[in-house]
Amino acid sequence: MAVISCPGCKKKISDKAKECSHCGLSLQALDSDKIANLNKVDRIHQAQKLMNYSFVAMLLFCGGFLFMFWDNVEQGTWQHTTAMISSIIGFILYIIIRIKLLFFKRNKK
Ligand SMILES: [Zn+2]
Repeated sequence: MAVISCPGCKKKISDKAKECSHCGLSLQALDSDKIANLNKVDRIHQAQKLMNYSFVAMLLFCGGFLFMFWDNVEQGTWQHTTAMISSIIGFILYIIIRIKLLFFKRNKK
């Protein structure tokens, strides 16, 4: 038994279910080819979403990093703290998203 996402409401359901328990969409009308295709499209969207997140994280990191040196902000000021936190969060987020993407690609059947 595998878990697929409903083509109607995108919630997780069993591929053996005759209809979606969330929105009631009949899955018998969809053959496995169509479901596989929908899942493929879904995967591409998910990967794109992760790529977008990693881009935002990268921006956070670079933005914070650049701001710290570019503006020559004094240490201890809130600007410096904000820039530092921003780059740290960006860096951590970037690593997490990268690892997620790695697992995401590895899970491909
Ligand atoms: Zn549904």
